[in-house]
Amino acid sequence: MKDSIKIVGAWFSNSGELEKLNGDLVKKSFFDVLHKSWGIRATVQQKVYFVNTYLFSKVWYTAQVFSLDKKLFYGSGKEKGILTQALNFVWAGENERCARPLQFRSKDKGGLGLIEPFIKAKAFLVKNMLKEYKQYEYDPRLLENVYGDQQTMLDIMAVGKTDSPVKDIYQVMLDNLVSKNGSLIPSREERRSQVKWKLSWRNLSKLKGTNGEESEFAWKLCQDMLPVGSRIHRKNAEKRCMEKLDGGLLCLEIQDREHVFRACELKGQIYRRLEMVMSKFLGKDLSFNEVIHLAFSHRNWRKLRLATWFAVKWLYNMWMSKNDNKLQVMKEMLKEVDWNSKMGRLSRFQVELRELREIFDQVMNG
Ligand SMILES: [Zn+2]
Repeated sequence: MKDSIKIVGAWFSNSGELEKLNGDLVKKSFFDVLHKSWGIRATVQQKVYFVNTYLFSKVWYTAQVFSLDKKLFYGSGKEKGILTQALNFVWAGENERCARPLQFRSKDKGGLGLIEPFIKAKAFLVKNMLKEYKQYEYDPRLLENVYGDQQTMLDIMAVGKTDSPVKDIYQVMLDNLVSKNGSLIPSREERRSQVKWKLSWRNLSKLKGTNGEESEFAWKLCQDMLPVGSRIHRKNAEKRCMEKLDGGLLCLEIQDREHVFRACELKGQIYRRLEMVMSKFLGKDLSFNEVIHLAFSHRNWRKLRLATWFAVKWLYNMWMSKNDNKLQVMKEMLKEVDWNSKMGRLSRFQVELRELREIFDQVMNG
């Protein structure tokens, strides 16, 4: 280490091996933070935010100056890379992981918005290279003097991103991972369900008045990732519904998402009330598929936001209520509506909230 000096958190050395030295520094910082945070209770979305902001912060910092080794991110041999470790952290305790492209897809398109650190590191470095190359007035004879992967830099210039911010350069580079032939690579559920996914993504990303658990629930609901019987992959897991029915018998149907929210005898009665409120409020009939994917629209955006909020809360209450009590779910929802009116939360939606409340009353008493 004699020939190396540390300047504001990065190593400079005249004995070569710069990338290795700084890669080790990134790794150490990563594992320090990871170690302290392992096992925290948080939603998948909250953990992704944590990974982007804190676990990878040293990467963003170092990557602006140094080219970092691929192995640091993806690992080699027995050693796991930091991306692998970050993904283990995000999905710890979860029943299943979503497909890789969906993890890295941006949040406004229904993804988790996890930053792909190797690609982002490259984007950072390319941005720096472009600044340097600009000082050489883009003279090809001086190209060799620019530190970093020159071909990648030229590729970015070729698509017209010479003066773009890192964020845009990252998006161009990410494209290979999340898209194919110009279209997003669909998730399992997006391939399977014929709904207008753009509406679903927009409603999800603009969700108002929900807490972390409810937002996570909404995302998993749309992607069919809720841990219902048919989706639990554990060995010997109970795949049947096992809810107590009216006559005291247990429901032996296979439990899938539709069963939980509509098909099971008592759930169906609760769900139909939601559908009634929604169709009256939005002035059109919605299919079950549209409701559970939040794939609906309305030309009044306030009504749309409020209807989305209402559907998520209602379905979340159904999901959490173990005793299938129709009145209980409706009472909870009524409390929610009144609480939000009184407290002025959802304050931009007060007019719509009153209308919703009236429709709700009619449906409850009807
Ligand atoms: Zn059932």
